[in-house]
Amino acid sequence: MNFFVQRSELRDLYDKVVAGERISDADALRLFESKDLNAVGAIADFVRQKKVKDCASYIINRYINYSNYCILSCQFCAFSRKKRDKDGFELSIEQIVQKAREALAIGITELHIVGGLHPSLPFSYYTDMLRALKALDPRLQLKCFTAIEILHLAWLGKKTVRETLSELKACGLDSLTGGGAEIFRKEVRSQIAKGKESAEEYLDVHRTWHQLGGRSTCTMLFGHVESLADRVNHLSYLRNLQDETHGFVGFVPLRYMPDNNLMEVKHAPTGFDCLRTIAVSRIYLDNFDHVTAYWVGMGMKLAQVALSYGADDLHGTIIEEHIFHMAGATSPQLQTEAAMVKAIREAGRTPVQRNTFYEPIKVLPAAITSDEGDASGKSKLLEGNLATA
Ligand code: SF4
Repeated sequence: MNFFVQRSELRDLYDKVVAGERISDADALRLFESKDLNAVGAIADFVRQKKVKDCASYIINRYINYSNYCILSCQFCAFSRKKRDKDGFELSIEQIVQKAREALAIGITELHIVGGLHPSLPFSYYTDMLRALKALDPRLQLKCFTAIEILHLAWLGKKTVRETLSELKACGLDSLTGGGAEIFRKEVRSQIAKGKESAEEYLDVHRTWHQLGGRSTCTMLFGHVESLADRVNHLSYLRNLQDETHGFVGFVPLRYMPDNNLMEVKHAPTGFDCLRTIAVSRIYLDNFDHVTAYWVGMGMKLAQVALSYGADDLHGTIIEEHIFHMAGATSPQLQTEAAMVKAIREAGRTPVQRNTFYEPIKVLPAAITSDEGDASGKSKLLEGNLATA
Protein backbone atom coordinates (compact mmCIF):
# COMPACT_ATOMS: atom_id res chain seq x y z
CA MET A 1 0.00 0.00 0.00
CA ASN A 2 1.38 3.33 -1.04
CA PHE A 3 2.07 5.72 1.84
CA PHE A 4 0.16 8.59 0.22
CA VAL A 5 -3.07 6.67 -0.30
CA GLN A 6 -3.11 4.71 2.95
CA ARG A 7 -5.14 7.28 4.85
CA SER A 8 -6.42 9.28 1.90
CA GLU A 9 -10.04 10.05 1.12
CA LEU A 10 -9.20 8.47 -2.24
CA ARG A 11 -8.34 5.07 -0.78
CA ASP A 12 -11.45 3.46 -2.34
CA LEU A 13 -10.41 4.64 -5.79
CA TYR A 14 -6.92 3.29 -5.26
CA ASP A 15 -8.43 -0.09 -4.34
CA LYS A 16 -10.65 0.04 -7.41
CA VAL A 17 -7.70 0.73 -9.71
CA VAL A 18 -5.52 -1.91 -8.08
CA ALA A 19 -8.35 -4.41 -8.61
CA GLY A 20 -8.22 -3.55 -12.33
CA GLU A 21 -11.63 -1.86 -12.41
CA ARG A 22 -12.32 1.03 -14.74
CA ILE A 23 -13.10 4.30 -12.97
CA SER A 24 -16.32 6.14 -13.79
CA ASP A 25 -16.78 9.75 -14.90
CA ALA A 26 -17.89 10.59 -11.34
CA ASP A 27 -14.70 8.99 -9.99
CA ALA A 28 -12.60 11.04 -12.41
CA LEU A 29 -14.31 14.23 -11.28
CA ARG A 30 -13.61 13.31 -7.67
CA LEU A 31 -9.94 12.86 -8.52
CA PHE A 32 -9.85 16.22 -10.30
CA GLU A 33 -11.53 17.95 -7.36
CA SER A 34 -9.31 16.40 -4.71
CA LYS A 35 -6.60 18.56 -3.15
CA ASP A 36 -4.64 15.44 -2.23
CA LEU A 37 -2.31 15.66 -5.20
CA ASN A 38 0.13 13.14 -3.81
CA ALA A 39 -2.60 10.52 -3.47
CA VAL A 40 -3.87 11.18 -7.02
CA GLY A 41 -0.28 11.00 -8.23
CA ALA A 42 0.34 7.75 -6.36
CA ILE A 43 -2.66 6.09 -8.02
CA ALA A 44 -1.50 7.34 -11.42
CA ASP A 45 2.03 6.15 -10.72
CA PHE A 46 0.69 2.70 -9.91
CA VAL A 47 -1.06 2.60 -13.31
CA ARG A 48 2.03 3.89 -15.12
CA GLN A 49 4.23 1.29 -13.48
CA LYS A 50 1.82 -1.48 -14.46
CA LYS A 51 1.73 -0.27 -18.08
CA VAL A 52 5.38 0.53 -18.81
CA LYS A 53 7.38 -0.55 -15.75
CA ASP A 54 10.20 1.93 -15.17
CA CYS A 55 10.67 3.07 -18.75
CA ALA A 56 10.20 6.66 -19.87
CA SER A 57 10.49 7.60 -23.51
CA TYR A 58 11.49 10.47 -25.76
CA ILE A 59 11.73 10.95 -29.51
CA ILE A 60 14.34 12.67 -31.65
CA ASN A 61 12.12 14.75 -33.87
CA ARG A 62 11.79 18.07 -35.62
CA TYR A 63 8.77 20.33 -35.89
CA ILE A 64 8.03 22.14 -39.14
CA ASN A 65 5.20 24.64 -39.54
CA TYR A 66 4.68 25.06 -43.27
CA SER A 67 2.61 28.22 -42.83
CA ASN A 68 0.80 30.25 -40.19
CA TYR A 69 -1.76 31.70 -42.60
CA CYS A 70 -5.19 30.52 -41.55
CA ILE A 71 -8.72 31.20 -42.68
CA LEU A 72 -9.98 30.68 -39.11
CA SER A 73 -9.40 32.88 -36.06
CA CYS A 74 -9.68 30.61 -33.03
CA GLN A 75 -9.84 32.86 -29.96
CA PHE A 76 -7.09 30.99 -28.06
CA CYS A 77 -4.65 30.92 -30.99
CA ALA A 78 -1.58 33.17 -31.09
CA PHE A 79 -0.10 31.45 -34.13
CA SER A 80 -2.41 32.22 -37.03
CA ARG A 81 -1.99 35.20 -39.34
CA LYS A 82 -3.86 36.73 -42.25
CA LYS A 83 -2.24 37.54 -45.57
CA ARG A 84 -2.13 41.24 -44.62
CA ASP A 85 0.01 40.53 -41.54
CA LYS A 86 3.71 41.25 -41.79
CA ASP A 87 4.78 38.24 -39.73
CA GLY A 88 2.83 35.67 -41.73
CA PHE A 89 4.90 33.01 -43.46
CA GLU A 90 4.66 30.06 -45.78
CA LEU A 91 7.44 27.69 -46.76
CA SER A 92 8.09 26.30 -50.18
CA ILE A 93 8.47 22.56 -50.48
CA GLU A 94 12.19 23.11 -51.17
CA GLN A 95 12.53 25.02 -47.87
CA ILE A 96 10.74 22.23 -45.99
CA VAL A 97 12.93 19.57 -47.59
CA GLN A 98 16.05 21.56 -46.68
CA LYS A 99 14.98 21.75 -43.01
CA ALA A 100 14.27 18.02 -43.07
CA ARG A 101 17.62 17.24 -44.70
CA GLU A 102 19.51 19.17 -42.00
CA ALA A 103 17.54 17.46 -39.25
CA LEU A 104 18.08 14.00 -40.72
CA ALA A 105 21.80 14.63 -40.53
CA ILE A 106 21.52 14.97 -36.74
CA GLY A 107 19.48 11.83 -36.27
CA ILE A 108 15.79 12.65 -36.25
CA THR A 109 13.38 9.79 -36.84
CA GLU A 110 10.22 11.91 -37.11
CA LEU A 111 9.00 15.11 -38.70
CA HIS A 112 5.97 16.67 -36.99
CA ILE A 113 4.31 18.99 -39.48
CA VAL A 114 1.27 21.22 -38.95
CA GLY A 115 0.12 24.61 -40.15
CA GLY A 116 -2.85 26.92 -40.41
CA LEU A 117 -5.71 26.38 -42.86
CA HIS A 118 -3.99 28.10 -45.72
CA PRO A 119 -6.30 30.18 -47.95
CA SER A 120 -4.77 29.34 -51.31
CA LEU A 121 -2.22 26.49 -51.33
CA PRO A 122 -3.53 23.68 -53.56
CA PHE A 123 -4.11 20.08 -52.49
CA SER A 124 -1.06 19.07 -54.54
CA TYR A 125 1.19 21.16 -52.23
CA TYR A 126 0.49 18.73 -49.39
CA THR A 127 0.85 15.52 -51.41
CA ASP A 128 4.02 16.82 -53.10
CA MET A 129 5.43 17.76 -49.68
CA LEU A 130 4.86 14.25 -48.30
CA ARG A 131 6.37 12.59 -51.37
CA ALA A 132 9.41 14.86 -51.35
CA LEU A 133 10.06 14.18 -47.66
CA LYS A 134 9.67 10.41 -48.02
CA ALA A 135 12.07 10.52 -50.97
CA LEU A 136 14.75 11.92 -48.63
CA ASP A 137 14.65 8.79 -46.49
CA PRO A 138 11.79 6.28 -46.51
CA ARG A 139 12.49 5.49 -42.82
CA LEU A 140 11.70 9.06 -41.78
CA GLN A 141 8.30 8.97 -40.08
CA LEU A 142 5.92 11.71 -41.13
CA LYS A 143 3.50 12.75 -38.40
CA CYS A 144 1.47 15.48 -40.02
CA PHE A 145 -1.75 17.46 -39.87
CA THR A 146 -4.45 17.94 -37.27
CA ALA A 147 -8.02 16.81 -37.84
CA ILE A 148 -9.11 20.31 -38.91
CA GLU A 149 -6.32 20.39 -41.52
CA ILE A 150 -7.57 17.06 -42.86
CA LEU A 151 -11.08 18.51 -43.19
CA HIS A 152 -9.59 21.53 -44.94
CA LEU A 153 -7.64 19.31 -47.35
CA ALA A 154 -10.75 17.23 -48.03
CA TRP A 155 -12.59 20.43 -48.91
CA LEU A 156 -9.68 21.60 -51.09
CA GLY A 157 -9.44 18.30 -52.93
CA LYS A 158 -13.23 17.86 -53.16
CA LYS A 159 -12.86 14.43 -51.58
CA THR A 160 -14.32 12.60 -48.62
CA VAL A 161 -12.27 12.37 -45.43
CA ARG A 162 -11.61 8.70 -46.17
CA GLU A 163 -10.41 9.44 -49.71
CA THR A 164 -8.24 12.30 -48.45
CA LEU A 165 -6.61 10.20 -45.75
CA SER A 166 -6.07 7.29 -48.16
CA GLU A 167 -4.35 9.55 -50.65
CA LEU A 168 -2.15 11.19 -48.01
CA LYS A 169 -1.24 7.74 -46.70
CA ALA A 170 -0.25 6.62 -50.19
CA CYS A 171 2.00 9.70 -50.41
CA GLY A 172 3.82 8.85 -47.19
CA LEU A 173 1.74 10.06 -44.23
CA ASP A 174 2.57 7.79 -41.26
CA SER A 175 0.59 9.34 -38.43
CA LEU A 176 -1.89 12.10 -37.72
CA THR A 177 -1.03 14.57 -34.98
CA GLY A 178 -3.44 14.94 -32.07
CA GLY A 179 -3.76 18.72 -32.13
CA GLY A 180 -7.04 20.59 -32.44
CA ALA A 181 -9.05 18.57 -29.93
CA GLU A 182 -9.07 21.52 -27.49
CA ILE A 183 -12.11 20.82 -25.28
CA PHE A 184 -14.91 18.91 -26.94
CA ARG A 185 -17.95 20.39 -25.20
CA LYS A 186 -19.76 22.61 -27.70
CA GLU A 187 -20.28 25.56 -25.35
CA VAL A 188 -16.57 25.71 -24.51
CA ARG A 189 -15.54 25.21 -28.13
CA SER A 190 -17.57 28.20 -29.26
CA GLN A 191 -15.82 30.36 -26.63
CA ILE A 192 -12.28 29.32 -27.53
CA ALA A 193 -12.33 28.08 -31.12
CA LYS A 194 -15.43 29.30 -32.90
CA GLY A 195 -15.71 27.89 -36.42
CA LYS A 196 -13.39 24.98 -35.76
CA GLU A 197 -14.52 21.42 -36.37
CA SER A 198 -16.93 19.83 -33.88
CA ALA A 199 -15.98 17.05 -31.47
CA GLU A 200 -17.74 14.58 -33.73
CA GLU A 201 -15.76 15.74 -36.76
CA TYR A 202 -12.44 15.54 -34.87
CA LEU A 203 -13.26 12.05 -33.66
CA ASP A 204 -14.50 10.94 -37.05
CA VAL A 205 -11.24 11.97 -38.75
CA HIS A 206 -9.27 9.91 -36.22
CA ARG A 207 -11.77 7.02 -36.40
CA THR A 208 -11.45 6.90 -40.19
CA TRP A 209 -7.66 7.08 -40.01
CA HIS A 210 -7.63 4.21 -37.52
CA GLN A 211 -9.96 2.18 -39.74
CA LEU A 212 -7.47 2.66 -42.56
CA GLY A 213 -4.82 1.08 -40.35
CA GLY A 214 -3.29 4.40 -39.26
CA ARG A 215 -2.32 5.43 -35.75
CA SER A 216 -2.46 8.84 -34.10
CA THR A 217 -2.17 10.70 -30.83
CA CYS A 218 -4.82 12.88 -29.21
CA THR A 219 -4.77 15.92 -26.98
CA MET A 220 -6.74 18.10 -24.57
CA LEU A 221 -6.10 21.83 -24.18
CA PHE A 222 -6.76 22.49 -20.50
CA GLY A 223 -6.74 25.38 -18.06
CA HIS A 224 -8.77 28.13 -19.78
CA VAL A 225 -12.57 28.52 -19.52
CA GLU A 226 -13.50 24.87 -19.19
CA SER A 227 -14.74 23.25 -15.98
CA LEU A 228 -13.29 20.09 -14.48
CA ALA A 229 -16.45 18.29 -15.60
CA ASP A 230 -15.70 19.45 -19.17
CA ARG A 231 -12.30 17.79 -18.91
CA VAL A 232 -13.89 14.52 -17.81
CA ASN A 233 -16.39 14.79 -20.65
CA HIS A 234 -13.49 15.33 -23.09
CA LEU A 235 -11.58 12.33 -21.78
CA SER A 236 -14.70 10.18 -22.01
CA TYR A 237 -14.95 10.83 -25.77
CA LEU A 238 -11.32 9.76 -26.17
CA ARG A 239 -11.71 6.64 -24.01
CA ASN A 240 -14.82 5.62 -25.96
CA LEU A 241 -13.12 6.00 -29.34
CA GLN A 242 -10.08 4.11 -28.08
CA ASP A 243 -12.38 1.25 -26.97
CA GLU A 244 -13.73 1.21 -30.50
CA THR A 245 -10.53 1.48 -32.60
CA HIS A 246 -7.46 1.05 -30.34
CA GLY A 247 -5.81 3.48 -32.73
CA PHE A 248 -4.42 6.07 -30.32
CA VAL A 249 -0.80 5.43 -29.40
CA GLY A 250 -0.64 8.14 -26.77
CA PHE A 251 -2.39 11.03 -25.05
CA VAL A 252 -0.82 14.49 -24.78
CA PRO A 253 -2.47 16.98 -22.37
CA LEU A 254 -1.61 20.52 -23.48
CA ARG A 255 -1.34 23.37 -21.01
CA TYR A 256 -3.17 26.51 -22.17
CA MET A 257 -0.80 29.42 -22.91
CA PRO A 258 -2.38 32.84 -22.33
CA ASP A 259 -0.40 35.41 -24.36
CA ASN A 260 -1.19 37.17 -27.64
CA ASN A 261 -4.68 35.85 -28.17
CA LEU A 262 -8.29 37.03 -27.98
CA MET A 263 -9.17 35.21 -24.75
CA GLU A 264 -9.82 36.96 -21.49
CA VAL A 265 -8.10 34.22 -19.50
CA LYS A 266 -4.66 35.64 -18.77
CA HIS A 267 -3.20 32.91 -16.59
CA ALA A 268 -1.71 29.59 -17.60
CA PRO A 269 -2.77 26.67 -15.39
CA THR A 270 -0.64 26.11 -12.32
CA GLY A 271 1.88 23.36 -11.79
CA PHE A 272 -0.62 21.67 -9.46
CA ASP A 273 -3.21 21.66 -12.23
CA CYS A 274 -0.74 20.29 -14.78
CA LEU A 275 0.23 17.40 -12.52
CA ARG A 276 -3.32 16.48 -11.52
CA THR A 277 -4.47 16.63 -15.15
CA ILE A 278 -1.74 14.24 -16.21
CA ALA A 279 -2.45 11.98 -13.25
CA VAL A 280 -6.23 11.83 -13.71
CA SER A 281 -5.79 11.28 -17.46
CA ARG A 282 -3.50 8.35 -16.79
CA ILE A 283 -5.97 6.77 -14.36
CA TYR A 284 -9.11 7.41 -16.43
CA LEU A 285 -7.66 6.53 -19.84
CA ASP A 286 -7.03 2.92 -18.88
CA ASN A 287 -6.99 1.86 -22.54
CA PHE A 288 -4.08 4.19 -23.43
CA ASP A 289 -0.53 2.92 -23.07
CA HIS A 290 1.24 6.28 -23.00
CA VAL A 291 0.73 9.72 -21.48
CA THR A 292 3.10 12.52 -22.44
CA ALA A 293 4.35 15.38 -20.28
CA TYR A 294 4.74 18.04 -22.97
CA TRP A 295 7.81 20.00 -21.87
CA VAL A 296 7.16 22.89 -24.27
CA GLY A 297 4.12 24.00 -22.28
CA MET A 298 5.08 22.73 -18.81
CA GLY A 299 8.79 23.40 -18.87
CA MET A 300 11.24 20.54 -18.54
CA LYS A 301 11.44 20.72 -14.74
CA LEU A 302 7.71 20.16 -14.24
CA ALA A 303 7.60 17.61 -17.06
CA GLN A 304 10.29 15.69 -15.22
CA VAL A 305 8.22 15.72 -12.01
CA ALA A 306 5.22 14.54 -14.05
CA LEU A 307 7.09 11.28 -14.63
CA SER A 308 6.11 10.49 -11.03
CA TYR A 309 2.49 11.56 -11.61
CA GLY A 310 1.52 9.19 -14.40
CA ALA A 311 3.47 10.41 -17.42
CA ASP A 312 5.87 8.03 -19.15
CA ASP A 313 6.99 10.16 -22.08
CA LEU A 314 8.70 13.54 -22.45
CA HIS A 315 7.89 14.06 -26.14
CA GLY A 316 10.75 15.18 -28.35
CA THR A 317 13.72 17.32 -29.19
CA ILE A 318 11.47 19.45 -31.48
CA ILE A 319 14.26 21.87 -32.61
CA GLU A 320 11.94 24.69 -33.74
CA GLU A 321 8.64 25.33 -31.96
CA HIS A 322 6.39 28.25 -32.88
CA ILE A 323 2.83 27.62 -31.70
CA PHE A 324 3.38 27.60 -27.92
CA HIS A 325 6.16 30.17 -28.02
CA MET A 326 4.00 32.69 -29.89
CA ALA A 327 1.48 32.18 -27.07
CA GLY A 328 4.01 32.94 -24.34
CA ALA A 329 5.87 29.71 -23.61
CA THR A 330 9.21 30.47 -21.96
CA SER A 331 10.71 27.03 -22.45
CA PRO A 332 13.63 26.70 -24.88
CA GLN A 333 13.04 26.08 -28.58
CA LEU A 334 14.63 22.65 -28.40
CA GLN A 335 15.92 19.97 -26.07
CA THR A 336 19.04 17.97 -26.70
CA GLU A 337 18.77 14.23 -26.45
CA ALA A 338 21.19 14.45 -23.56
CA ALA A 339 18.92 16.80 -21.60
CA MET A 340 15.95 14.49 -22.04
CA VAL A 341 17.94 11.43 -21.02
CA LYS A 342 19.29 13.27 -17.98
CA ALA A 343 15.80 14.35 -16.90
CA ILE A 344 14.53 10.78 -17.23
CA ARG A 345 17.46 9.29 -15.34
CA GLU A 346 17.18 11.79 -12.51
CA ALA A 347 13.52 10.81 -12.17
CA GLY A 348 14.63 7.22 -11.61
CA ARG A 349 13.44 5.91 -14.96
CA THR A 350 15.12 4.04 -17.77
CA PRO A 351 15.43 6.24 -20.87
CA VAL A 352 14.01 4.78 -24.08
CA GLN A 353 14.36 6.48 -27.43
CA ARG A 354 11.09 5.76 -29.23
CA ASN A 355 9.67 6.16 -32.71
CA THR A 356 6.40 7.85 -33.73
CA PHE A 357 4.39 4.83 -32.57
CA TYR A 358 6.10 4.73 -29.16
CA GLU A 359 8.02 1.61 -30.19
CA PRO A 360 11.52 1.43 -28.68
CA ILE A 361 14.49 2.30 -30.88
CA LYS A 362 17.16 2.32 -28.19
CA VAL A 363 17.05 1.49 -24.48
CA LEU A 364 19.68 3.31 -22.45
CA PRO A 365 20.94 2.19 -19.07
CA ALA A 366 19.26 3.80 -16.09
CA ALA A 367 22.63 5.29 -15.11
CA ILE A 368 25.58 6.50 -17.21
CA THR A 369 27.88 3.58 -18.01
CA SER A 370 31.59 3.62 -18.80
CA ASP A 371 30.71 2.68 -22.39
CA GLU A 372 28.55 5.70 -22.73
CA GLY A 373 30.70 8.18 -20.83
CA ASP A 374 34.22 9.39 -21.50
CA ALA A 375 37.11 9.40 -19.05
CA SER A 376 35.71 12.42 -17.26
CA GLY A 377 32.45 10.56 -16.66
CA LYS A 378 30.62 12.92 -18.95
CA SER A 379 28.00 11.25 -21.13
CA LYS A 380 28.67 11.19 -24.85
CA LEU A 381 25.06 12.20 -25.21
CA LEU A 382 25.92 15.44 -23.45
CA GLU A 383 27.80 16.45 -26.57
CA GLY A 384 24.35 16.24 -28.06
CA ASN A 385 23.37 15.25 -31.55
CA LEU A 386 21.52 18.54 -31.57
CA ALA A 387 24.46 20.68 -30.60
CA THR A 388 24.89 21.48 -34.26
CA ALA A 389 21.20 22.21 -34.86
S1 SF4 B 1 -5.83 27.00 -33.85
FE1 SF4 B 1 -5.38 26.24 -35.94
S2 SF4 B 1 -7.33 26.46 -37.03
FE2 SF4 B 1 -7.49 27.78 -35.22
S3 SF4 B 1 -6.78 29.81 -35.90
FE3 SF4 B 1 -5.00 28.75 -35.05
S4 SF4 B 1 -4.00 27.80 -36.82
FE4 SF4 B 1 -6.11 28.33 -37.44
